Amino acid sequence: YRAKAMGNCYQLFDEEMRTQHLDKIELEGELTIAVREQQFRVAFEPIVDIHGSAIFSVESLVRWMHPEKGMISPNTFIPLAEELGLIIEIDRIVFKKTCQQFHQWREKGIISPNQKFNVNLSCAQLQRSDIIPFLLSTVDGLDIGPHDIVLEITESYLLADSGLVMKNLNEMNQLGFSIFVDDFGTGYSSLSYLAKYPIHGIKIDRSFVRDLEKSVESKELIRSIIAMADALKLKVVTEGVETVEQLQVMTELGCRYIQGFLFTRPMTSTQAQTFFVDSPYREWLNQTPVDHGG
Ligand code: C2E
Ligand code: MG
Ligand code: MG
Ligand code: MG
Repeated sequence: YRAKAMGNCYQLFDEEMRTQHLDKIELEGELTIAVREQQFRVAFEPIVDIHGSAIFSVESLVRWMHPEKGMISPNTFIPLAEELGLIIEIDRIVFKKTCQQFHQWREKGIISPNQKFNVNLSCAQLQRSDIIPFLLSTVDGLDIGPHDIVLEITESYLLADSGLVMKNLNEMNQLGFSIFVDDFGTGYSSLSYLAKYPIHGIKIDRSFVRDLEKSVESKELIRSIIAMADALKLKVVTEGVETVEQLQVMTELGCRYIQGFLFTRPMTSTQAQTFFVDSPYREWLNQTPVDHGG
């Protein structure tokens, strides 16, 4: 009996792996078409400045609108796009769309002159010599410039000791772009890169916030990250804030910039426009017993 059950089990497992493999091959082909046919949309998620009770920036997040399968999450296709080298083109599509959207919002006076936007850049971009010309030519002629733009990069990319990465980051910095480290705290233990590269901010990974209620250590860890960031004059964003309790703890700990489902899930451009005008996040800030400053 047992042997038979085991046999079945393996068979199922094989079957599942085969399906996954076929799914991947299918997805690879479809992703290539998606790039060609530009099946991508951008979703917007604000980062709220607790002091001043305003929107500091809005992160643009790619969405793949598959013609039959519907919306596919970036967690599913970004790793594949990186593997296939399609990420360069996808990031650039997202960057262009985002710039055009912000230009429009600025022209219509929907966003304040100092509201920025964040875009995610994959590692592969930093290792190319054409990234700066691409960024500059995209904003050229639009009502936005490098000072409006925060480039989010993942910390593992900063460990590869590449001259080109260093050159690109320095040039971005000189041009006025801000550089933030995304998913901070999940990658590597060495923090020396923070001094080596021109970094303007960090985004504390969602996993730290998720563990806040369960572990005292998590809170202490966040406290030390913020102290370190303060010493290095880095801005600190916390991502993944979902509850008013988490907002309160993060505010107590001195984190100034907050992003998460508490305020809103990623929105379409139409929804974002309404969000900017109505500022519903202020209601949550009013519930935190902390001085919000000026
Ligand atoms: P990320 O850059 O760290 O973005 C944050 C992710 O967490 C987003 O997922 C966002 O929807 C989600 N999130 C934000 N607040 C909360 C919260 O309170 N709770 C929970 N549970 N989740 C929250 P999304 O949009 O699925 O993106 C996943 C990842 O895909 C991003 O992580 C980023 O690494 C990557 N990605 C997205 N768009 C792009 C892009 O245009 N280019 C590149 N290279 N990567 C992208
Ligand atoms: Mg990001
Ligand atoms: Mg992040
Ligand atoms: Mg993340």
